[in-house]
Amino acid sequence: MSPGRVTGVVGHPVEHSLSPALHNAAYRALGLDWSYHAFDVAPGELAAAVAGAKALGLRGLSVTMPHKEEAAFLADRRSRAARRLAACNTLVFESSGTVAESTDGEGFLADLREGAGFEPEGRSCAVIGAGGVARAVILALSEAGAREILVVNRTPVNAFRAAAVARGRARVGRPAELQSTELVVQATPVGMTGVEAGRLPADPRHLGSGQLVVDLVYRPAETEFLAEAARNGARVRNGLGMLVRQAGLQVTLFTGSEAPLEEMWQAIGEKEDSPRKS
Ligand code: NAP
Repeated sequence: MSPGRVTGVVGHPVEHSLSPALHNAAYRALGLDWSYHAFDVAPGELAAAVAGAKALGLRGLSVTMPHKEEAAFLADRRSRAARRLAACNTLVFESSGTVAESTDGEGFLADLREGAGFEPEGRSCAVIGAGGVARAVILALSEAGAREILVVNRTPVNAFRAAAVARGRARVGRPAELQSTELVVQATPVGMTGVEAGRLPADPRHLGSGQLVVDLVYRPAETEFLAEAARNGARVRNGLGMLVRQAGLQVTLFTGSEAPLEEMWQAIGEKEDSPRKS
């Protein structure tokens, strides 16, 4: 067995993160004597935390709120997605320097294709929200060849900024336009356990058959939004598949091995639904 290495996630708060369970299960399944830990890093402390992690010989870090933008800035090199988004969710410490990567968009696309059986190329899509994850999804859908991407958000100026990551394919849309799209992605924290209940800029009663509705929230596994869309005949999927796949891509970046997705699903007490094509 190769010597053990340490990885982890930096965020604030981070104590409820599922990442340690996912990554440690992957290391066990791969037969690696590695460990992954949650590090609560307060705003303003990221640069010191990253310098310390490098000095201590960590292999890399997952990065979550509120550090995604600053982490990309601190890196020596950035992947194409990290550059386009000016944010990252992964730092890999190579001997040649720190590399910023973003696995959210790729994890989302992999789940859409392999988990939900939906190919976005040539399709009309919509994203509700304009935050970090919404932007990663907009960029990924654009690069996958989606015909158009409507961005619907509470604060219009943020919608314009988010649509700008995919100029030419993404535009700011009105809630009423969601009905005519084939894929609707809910990418705000509304509905998440521990988040104050809020109203989305879209009414799920207007979504229905012929549409795939993905809510990126994964806790709870079924939000009110998803339940209502399903009652109206939409095919639905929650955010667990993206969560597992973006973590799987990080496992590959850290270890160089293909991620054992089945064991990672088991580690969070879930199993993958079999996809239906749409
Ligand atoms: P974020 O940057 O804080 O995004 C906030 C976005 O949500 C903004 O567009 C904001 O609108 C909108 N919003 C917030 N509260 C709202 C409300 N009450 N009503 C309407 N819109 C509201 O967060 P993020 O990092 O993008 O993450 C968003 C969510 O995605 C997370 O909470 C989590 O549930 C989920 N997520 C899932 C995965 C996964 O792997 N499945 C990974 C990461 C995150 P304004 O512009 O108007 O402020």
